[in-house]
Amino acid sequence: MLQTKMKVAFYGHVRQYHNIKKEIDANIHEVLESGQYVMGPMLQRFEKELAEFHKTKYAIGVGNGTDALWLTFMALGIGPGDECITTTNTFFATAEAIWIAGATVVFVDSDARTNCIDPAKIEAAITPRTKAIVPVHLYGQCADMKAIRKIADKHKLLVIEDNAQAIAARGDGFRIGELSDAATVSFIIQKNLGTFGDGGAVVTNNSEVDRLVRKMRNHGSDKRSCHSYGFNSRLDDLHAGVLSAKLKHIDEWSDQRRKWAARYSKGLAGARNITLPYEMPGYRHVYHLYVIETKQAKYRDPLLKFLNDEGIDAKCHYPIAIHQQEGYPWGKGARIAGPIPNSERNAACCVSLPMFPELTEEEVDYTVERVLEWDRSAK
Ligand SMILES: *Cc1c(COP(=O)(O)O)cnc(C)c1O
Repeated sequence: MLQTKMKVAFYGHVRQYHNIKKEIDANIHEVLESGQYVMGPMLQRFEKELAEFHKTKYAIGVGNGTDALWLTFMALGIGPGDECITTTNTFFATAEAIWIAGATVVFVDSDARTNCIDPAKIEAAITPRTKAIVPVHLYGQCADMKAIRKIADKHKLLVIEDNAQAIAARGDGFRIGELSDAATVSFIIQKNLGTFGDGGAVVTNNSEVDRLVRKMRNHGSDKRSCHSYGFNSRLDDLHAGVLSAKLKHIDEWSDQRRKWAARYSKGLAGARNITLPYEMPGYRHVYHLYVIETKQAKYRDPLLKFLNDEGIDAKCHYPIAIHQQEGYPWGKGARIAGPIPNSERNAACCVSLPMFPELTEEEVDYTVERVLEWDRSAK
């Protein structure tokens, strides 16, 4: 069944806007007419909805997902002299935020199948200076939080979930924000819950994190004209309005992403030269990204080029792991604990296929056909 060449985009932002235009426009108009654009009632409404969604006591809107991370680190007292354990096969911001807070990054390997942090590798990396574990719910699937919680309890460590990619995901009997000190969210447009620009949030059950992040995001002020140490990192009310409209759809969109993932996985099941995403039993993976891996690193760039030439905007997340980035501050003491073959394989072999709720069957099937065509000819 060879279809004629078509274009398949990587994102569906405009399709999504058109589908719920009335709801988004209504909230934008409400903010415009209210005259309150910063720290106004729409932000309060959205924060309440976001906390309810996570079943956490608190949610605090901030400027972006990176600020959400380092503001949380600072609120928890993580800073110079402290070590934070995370993975290198993630978006740069995870480590960047640890660095901004003044702490030291320690990288451990990821799990071969999920690509999230491998709990079995964490304990060997713990030193007297270790203060926190920062798991990333990579590609839309939760890290093994039950195992991470056990290690954290045993060694009295903090846990901060970098949940930029997996809003609406669930683990096997746990929710995001439930087994940690705080979880952070990113609302940049390409994330599963995205605004038309930048945004972020912290969700937590810890009243001190709530109080301090709330204060620090607003020049260290919780009372008019009174300031302590702080920054400017607020979630604007216009963005809160967009996000409030979209939050009502996030479960339905996540189901749609899962449906496309299942269709990809079924269609690609027979391919010899690629590995498909792995779902942990009992977890709800929300497929921020549908990432396949070529079985050999030498196949990755040819597959990517083949798909791009066929009109499919496939990408890589993330082809250069953080420890491979020139800009990474090794001079500040960052280190890799133990070998990290899984993270390095992930960086070398990953290919992200188009994934967004508004894809069509035709687009998914065309992508499957093209990957299979490449697979048959790969040598
Ligand atoms: C997107 C992302 C961030 C940063 O979020 P921004 O809103 O872009 O600052 C942090 N961590 C991970 C894993 C991300 O994917």
